[in-house]
Formats: sequence, C-alpha cells, structure tokens
Amino acid sequence: MDIVSRPDGPVPSKLGRTEHRTRPTANDERIGPPQWQRSMREAIRCPIDLCEQLGLGSDVAIAAGESTAGFSVFVPREYLGRIRPGDINDPLLRQVLPTADESDADGDSAPPPGYSKDPVGDHSARLRPGLIRKYHGRALLIVTGACAVHCRYCFRRHYPYGDAPKSIEQWQPALDEIASDDSIQEVLLSGGDPLTMTDSRLAVLADAIRTVPHVRRLRVHTRLPIMIPSRVNDALIDWLWTDSRPTIVVVHANHSREIDKEVGRAFRRLLDGGIMLLNQSVLLRGVNDSVDALADLSERLVDVGVVPYYLHQLDRVAGASHFEVPVSEGRQLVASMRARLPGYAVPRYVREIAGQAGKMEL
Ligand SMILES: *Cc1c(COP(=O)(O)O)cnc(C)c1O
Ligand code: SF4
Repeated sequence: MDIVSRPDGPVPSKLGRTEHRTRPTANDERIGPPQWQRSMREAIRCPIDLCEQLGLGSDVAIAAGESTAGFSVFVPREYLGRIRPGDINDPLLRQVLPTADESDADGDSAPPPGYSKDPVGDHSARLRPGLIRKYHGRALLIVTGACAVHCRYCFRRHYPYGDAPKSIEQWQPALDEIASDDSIQEVLLSGGDPLTMTDSRLAVLADAIRTVPHVRRLRVHTRLPIMIPSRVNDALIDWLWTDSRPTIVVVHANHSREIDKEVGRAFRRLLDGGIMLLNQSVLLRGVNDSVDALADLSERLVDVGVVPYYLHQLDRVAGASHFEVPVSEGRQLVASMRARLPGYAVPRYVREIAGQAGKMEL
C-alpha cells in the first residue's frame, strides 16, 4: 500500500454509496464551515465563564480557575444546555468543572498510591507514531489529541500527543505496520476524539486503512455525537459507511441526561446510515455511582438504539482519584443492574490493566 505517492485528487471511489449521501446539504463543507466546527470554536474555555453561565458562586469560579492543573476547561454550548443551573452537584457539571481535588495532577502534591500519569501503559505500547497495539486482532490509532470536551477524569490527560502524526504522509509507518500484520482485523480510531478532525481528512485515512484486505472492521471511539450532535452530518456518514465492511461507533455517555432529543436524533442518523452503535461509560463518584443512575443510562441508551458495551473502572490517573468508586461497590451496582434489566442492557464491568491481553472483567 502506498498512499504517499498517490497524486493529489479524489480519494478512491466509494462504490456502492447511495446517491442521496453525496448531494449538497446545509451541512455541506462547500457552503462554508459546518455547524459543528462553529460549535467547537464557540465552546466555553474559561472556568469563570462556565460558572457565570450556570449561576454558580464566585467562590466556585475562583476554585475552578485555580484548579485546571494544565488541563483547560472545554465545554460545548450544546452540552452546557443540559447542565442544571445553580447545581454544583450536577452529574454533567462534575465531569467538566475543575475542582481543588485535582491538585495532585500537576505535581503540587503527590497523587495517592497507585495513581500515575500513564495508568494503562499506553506510552510503552506505542509501536509506530500514533499506533498503539495492545490486544490481539486490534490496532488503535491516536488520530488527534483534540477533544470536544475536557473530561476531568480523563486517563489520557498526560498523553504525549505532540508525537501523533499530523498528515497522511506521517501516518505511513502506522499504515505499513497494519498492512504487514495480517492478524490485525480491526482498526480503532481514537484520540483525543478522532471526530474533531474534518471529514475530508478522516475519509483519506479511513480509505487508506480500508485498502488493507485483512482489515475487516473500522471502529471509531468518540464523544462528539453527544457533545455536539450536529457533528453527525452527511459528510460523516459518507466516509463512515461502506457496503463491504462494518463500521462501529462507540460513543461515551456517563449519564442519561447527556442524551437529549438532539443527541437521540444524531444516533438515529448513524443507525440509519448502517452504523453499529455501542456505548462505554466510566463509573464515576458523584456522576453515576448509584443503581438508579446506571439503570436510567442503560434504559435511555436502549431507547435510542445504543447497546451498553462497557462500564469502566476508573483508570488511576493523577488528578482523578476523587472520582474513584471501589471495585467492591462497583460489583454490587452491576449485580443490582442485572436484577433489574434485560441482559443486553447490562454493560460489562471492566478495568484496563497494563500488559494484559484484554480489558479485565471484574
Ligand atoms: C480498549 C482498547 C482496545 C479495544 O478493546 P475492546 O475490548 O475490543 O473494546 C483496543 N486497543 C487498545 C489499545 C485499547 O486500549
Ligand atoms: S473525550 Fe475522551 S479523550 Fe477526550 S477528554 Fe474526554 S475522556 Fe479524555
């Protein structure tokens, strides 16, 4: 496979794509930047602004401003609209508002034992620039470090994204690695959030991956359809969908209130576009650490056509220890879910352990 020497021009033909997908629409990039890019630009990046918008006191705002610990605030207005104003304990707000609990992230104080800057061994699993290979049959590409939200519990907050490839030429070593190893059946696009990239760039990368005959599936891990539902437009569906190989999109909702009508509509568009939809969440203290919250999330996901896939035990990243729920409590919560919900609505409770052959079921 050689995508470097391919002359500039149209990407490989998209056989089998239906006509209506390529017709210009209000979201078409030829008419101007798509709405989602405007939403990214207009996202809230200032902790004081975030607190003012939500009617929170200046004490909260000052604490937030002092606590960003090298990981700035980023909240799109679509998500802001789902946060309950004036409620410091809102489960959506807790995911995005910096607090003094993060002070061990920047070296001011030592993180608790077991917490580090690379809890899941990603730094050492880098095989080529941007390529992480940990599990049999699957290769993960770190497409970008950018996200459509900054989650305070994020395990990649310390990842050295500067090394990630920025152009299709720089992807070549990773693509060569995928092409030369026929045990790789699935390629995951991750980050950061891969859908912060433009569809034209993503289409080139996806098409390059799909030229490898042994790659049977493409998987995209993203919070964008939840953070900015207008991200799901025709241009996205156009490169995600192919008639020959399935594409799986794994979204990332932690609470039922993250999924409003607009988000439900975005999921529906993906489903109608032939995409399989899964959800993964993280078990988080003060966000979803009750059987009601977890069951509501599962019910809501199933209502909008998404299968609850994983419930992750928190990765022990410096700055996030206040979100941890002990495994014993997590097991009880999942057992209670099982007693209430159909089997397909109960996610697998897993933890990632560096050096293991797969996510470990708890
Ligand atoms: C989580 C992860 C995967 C995917 O694991 P699944 O159990 O298939 O969802 C693949 N590669 C890496 C590096 C991962 O961290
Ligand atoms: S969207 Fe994912 S990678 Fe980005 S900050 Fe949130 S958890 Fe981390």
